[in-house]
Amino acid sequence: MIRLQVCNACKSTHYPERDICPSCWRDTLDWQQVSPLGRLTTSTVLHTSVKPEWADKLPLQLGLVKLDAGPNILTFLSASLNTGTLVTLTFNDGVFTAKETL
Ligand SMILES: [Zn+2]
Repeated sequence: MIRLQVCNACKSTHYPERDICPSCWRDTLDWQQVSPLGRLTTSTVLHTSVKPEWADKLPLQLGLVKLDAGPNILTFLSASLNTGTLVTLTFNDGVFTAKETL
């Protein structure tokens, strides 16, 4: 499970963090455990970075995941994955990483 904001009024799930629900405009968002399952909708490989501290991590696989819970989340990918692959997200050290769901 991962923790995201869920609106207690309309039950919609949101990312990134907000003060007000963008679906119903109420301030009834709480952090809740939600399913980490989703599908990879697009991906790319980062070969260069303006941040020198990332040099040893290149090339870096990045992807956009549409969670079953609703939000789209930009993630690191644990490997090169095809669009449409069912993935599971984890959240560690402030970043999401997606790996293929087996
Ligand atoms: Zn709402």
